[in-house]
Amino acid sequence: MDSKVSEAKSGNFLKKIVDFIGKDVKAKNETKKLTVVIRILLISVMVYFSINGIFNNTKLDLAVILFYTLFFAVFAGLFAISYFCRSIVTLGVFNLGMIVWICVILHLFGWNIGVQHFLMVLLVLFFFSSYKQYTKKIMYAVFLCAFRILLFYIYRYREPLWSLAAADENALQIINTITIFWCLSVVVFIFSNNSQELERKLMDYNMQLEELANTDALTGLNNRRKALDYMGILVKRSAEYGAFSICICDIDFFKKVNDTYGHDFGDEVLKGISKVFNKELKGKDFAARWGGEEFLLLFPDCNGDDAFLKVSHLRNKIKEMKVKKDETEVGVTMTFGLTEYDFNSDLSAAIKEADEKLYLGKEQGRDRIVY
Ligand code: GH3
Ligand code: MG
Ligand code: MG
Repeated sequence: MDSKVSEAKSGNFLKKIVDFIGKDVKAKNETKKLTVVIRILLISVMVYFSINGIFNNTKLDLAVILFYTLFFAVFAGLFAISYFCRSIVTLGVFNLGMIVWICVILHLFGWNIGVQHFLMVLLVLFFFSSYKQYTKKIMYAVFLCAFRILLFYIYRYREPLWSLAAADENALQIINTITIFWCLSVVVFIFSNNSQELERKLMDYNMQLEELANTDALTGLNNRRKALDYMGILVKRSAEYGAFSICICDIDFFKKVNDTYGHDFGDEVLKGISKVFNKELKGKDFAARWGGEEFLLLFPDCNGDDAFLKVSHLRNKIKEMKVKKDETEVGVTMTFGLTEYDFNSDLSAAIKEADEKLYLGKEQGRDRIVY
């Protein structure tokens, strides 16, 4: 029983660690894969520092232990940065940290322990880190290659600051080799794995973009572009499904509302009307902000007579609507121009007809439907 409880606890703890390392990045349009890989590499290098620290601890060399503790702290800082920055920034500071650290280790312990091979990890990581960007990748590969050759000339035959016994050098060479192979495996494994997560993110992002492109920012209704798209679809299917109805409507004396109560209040009226449309229109019926204080309504599979009943209902609901400002309640009316589109009509002509009927309604005294 006890062992089951402790097993569950350790499972929970492990899950928390995995969730923590795998925490998503803040930027919406980038995959978390790169940042997660860098976090794993940072943890690996911190474990490596700990092992090296312990390895040297047996010799009670305080300076070496302090040195590893310092680098451990720096890499822990880089790990923390990965939770706040874009992955490109994390990649940059990780590369910088690794290059500085490689140089320092070479300086202290010399060429023979093989720390310079960590540059390969940076190269592979950089190639997987972005899509395309070939020039940058080639430039970075050339830089790392030249840098490694430079390090070779500086450190290959130079006496290190802290000389190690051959046996210690061999032990560190093995620790380095294992760590480098582990790091390379992590990078290659994670990046060669499926790209579903990125695809899902891109799909969500595209959907958000599409929604934004089709929505009116003030009222949240469909915008003119979406209305034109929808009419395009209705026209195409009209041969099969029959007529649909188009209505263009406009707020009566809206200028007066703006002039009397202010433009912000006018905006509230536009939002209130949009709410009424959203609430009262059912099924395939559609409302869009056509421009300014004009709206366009579409009634698919609906002839003009049926659409007239629906528009009458909307007209009444808008008349009942009140928008509050301090103590005053303001109501508005709208005028509607309604027309029917059948499959052999011309869409632009039908829209123009609805518009002309709207203006006829204005001339006749407003607050009415002209059909
Ligand atoms: P009519 O009954 O003939 O339609 O009179 P009207 O005053 O409504 O017509 P007009 O076209 O002269 O005025 C429309 C006004 O709508 C003018 C413009 O300032 C206002 N308007 C257009 N877009 C917006 C908006 O987004 N917010 C606000 N508050 N006002 C808007
Ligand atoms: Mg107008
Ligand atoms: Mg108006």
